[in-house]
Amino acid sequence: MEQFAIRSIYCRIPLICNIFFFFSTGVSSHLTVNVPRTILINMKPPPSVLRIPLWAFPERSPQKVSANKQPRDKDLCQTSPDWLKTIHNVTEDIMDEVKEGLRYVFQTKNRVVCCISGTGHAGMEATMSNLIEPGTIILIASNGIWGQRAADMAKRQDADVRMIEKPGGDNFTKSDIEAALIEHKPAITFMVQGESSTGVYQPLDGMGEICHKHGALLAVDAVASLGGVPFYMDDWSVDVVYTGTQKVISAPPSMAPIAFSDKAMSFVASRKSPTRSFYTDITCLANYWGCDGTPRKYHHTGPVSSVYALREALAIVCDEGLESLLIRHKAAAERLWAGLAELGLEMYVSDVSKRLPTVNTIRVPEGIDWMRVTKYFMSKYLVEISGGLGPSAGQVWRVGLMGYNCTTDNVDLVLKIMKEALADARSQDTASKL
Ligand code: PMP
Repeated sequence: MEQFAIRSIYCRIPLICNIFFFFSTGVSSHLTVNVPRTILINMKPPPSVLRIPLWAFPERSPQKVSANKQPRDKDLCQTSPDWLKTIHNVTEDIMDEVKEGLRYVFQTKNRVVCCISGTGHAGMEATMSNLIEPGTIILIASNGIWGQRAADMAKRQDADVRMIEKPGGDNFTKSDIEAALIEHKPAITFMVQGESSTGVYQPLDGMGEICHKHGALLAVDAVASLGGVPFYMDDWSVDVVYTGTQKVISAPPSMAPIAFSDKAMSFVASRKSPTRSFYTDITCLANYWGCDGTPRKYHHTGPVSSVYALREALAIVCDEGLESLLIRHKAAAERLWAGLAELGLEMYVSDVSKRLPTVNTIRVPEGIDWMRVTKYFMSKYLVEISGGLGPSAGQVWRVGLMGYNCTTDNVDLVLKIMKEALADARSQDTASKL
């Protein structure tokens, strides 16, 4: 138990720079929430191999780290294990375990599940570069900056980009997508499950089938949502999905886990020209990550310490279980929304069913200087909340509740600070009018 606590805390330290607010508290285990049945349908179990921490394998614990003690995740995550080489049987075993963990979080049996060496953007770039040839029609569902960013990347691959747009705060229905598929006849449809610029959740159940019915593949950005809301790659017929390690998975930023369905791999195999990006070529990466059944070949120098840390972060996810992780996110977000309402604040996404639990967008009330509030959070409490982005710029605060920071205590702390910060901002506003 003590080891787990140390593991939990230290493994998560590198996240500090890349989440919206940070604390050193552990995960709350006192949530009593009914499990919504819809969350648990067909949930596949976590891989048993990730139930065992790396330090339990003596052959994988280098002498310099383990010397008479069990290495802590601080060592695993923060030092570069220089004894670990890119193509090394120990590394390959760890990569295989990462794949198992990713199959679990993506809820897939797909063969090609691996990581792009790079952050979430690299996952988006890999999706576009592998699926697009000049002239490929791609339909992009855009309701915030990530749809726009995807369109930018697709254009750089000379795609024929067709946009379907919704205002920030709204999402897409199946009939919206079906009508656009009929109109544009794309080869690919791209959707963002968690639009972090606006805090909107995009339901995906049934979207893959509609895309397939109209001859398109479905590619999904799940960077800000995976693990915080349900995601079923196989059951929802998603062809490509990517995420970022630094969000709910709570590993250091540096990798973009990605999965391709067999259908997507056949599509890539039928390209007339090779993908323009060697670095993100999924056929090379599938070999490098041991997904294609042929001996692994050097493709690039993998970020071994990141792979190592990701393996441990996935082990923590498996320890907790996806069901519990989803419930924890839902419960924390609901607690935050209720507390904010008591403070007289409104959410940017008014329809609760369209709200993302991982990135919470709060409307800045009339007359309040939003930046003064974010500065108050940081200067007095070292808690970071962000301002808006894209369509929500200047209109909202964004509070991230993801992975290890998604706890009841942290929600309560944010609410306490928000109350103080609003009083401070209001007193400033009154003083300036005197
Ligand atoms: N997609 C979404 C939905 C995101 O929220 C982000 C980052 N917050 C990205 C893509 C890009 O990820 P990264 O910053 O890790 O490159």
